[in-house]
Amino acid sequence: MGQQQVTQITCDRCKRVEHRSLSELRAAPKAGDKSHYVFMGTYKGDYAEFEDLCTGCLSIFDNHWREMTKVLQKSSPIRRKK
Ligand SMILES: [Zn+2]
Repeated sequence: MGQQQVTQITCDRCKRVEHRSLSELRAAPKAGDKSHYVFMGTYKGDYAEFEDLCTGCLSIFDNHWREMTKVLQKSSPIRRKK
């Protein structure tokens, strides 16, 4: 196998350090790109952003996100009118 370019990431949540190959990154950073966030959002004045998440935190986040969006879509008043 040839050489592989890897990027070191530090999890914004638990500070774990992982190495990812560039192909594994969700969106490979390009020169001059602004920071790429896995998640950023505001809710009632609270602001949260995670630039990088380790594999463990990402899977926790995946589950929370799926649950949250599922519940929100189900109880949407727009859908209920139909
Ligand atoms: Zn983590």
